[in-house]
Amino acid sequence: PVPVVAVVGRPNVGKSTLVNRIIGRRQAVVEDTPGVTRDRVPYDAQWNGRQFTVVDTGGWEPDARDRAKAIAMQAEIAVQTADVVLFVVDAMVGSTDVDEAAVRMLRRSNKPVILVANKADNNAIEMEAVSLWTLGLGEPQVVSALHGRGSGDLLDLILAAM
Ligand code: GDP
Ligand code: MG
Repeated sequence: PVPVVAVVGRPNVGKSTLVNRIIGRRQAVVEDTPGVTRDRVPYDAQWNGRQFTVVDTGGWEPDARDRAKAIAMQAEIAVQTADVVLFVVDAMVGSTDVDEAAVRMLRRSNKPVILVANKADNNAIEMEAVSLWTLGLGEPQVVSALHGRGSGDLLDLILAAM
């Protein structure tokens, strides 16, 4: 079976942009309005001759209600059914209470998690991202999904984790 990589994190941190970067084409819908991706959307990906499936999700919020709750549940299912999880945070914002709640959910899953600090478009933001160590998920992998910065290193790590 082809390994499955789930991409989770708060709305608007750049999950779909990262998915497009990973698959090398613009297929996942990127939106300035949070909550566009509602379900789990799988895409075929490959790197260094290895195939895997990358699953875009709609964003996870802890005390979400109604529609947002359904979206968050899809993200949890994506985590449960994944071999590797990419937990995406916004390096421009830093870690939030919502991120910390998500980390607790991820720990319960016992899945290998790669912490991705996205939107590190320049060196200054990259330096700030070091503070994300405090989330307790190890070294943050600093990327800019928009510009492609760090994506090759991230893909190498994904292969090593699956
Ligand atoms: P999602 O809700 O987590 O899937 O986030 P999207 O991929 O839809 O992106 C939300 C917004 O963040 C869009 O306006 C993207 O263009 C922007 N964005 C995504 N990645 C980056 C990045 O690396 N740098 C910057 N500056 N903006 C980004
Ligand atoms: Mg999205």
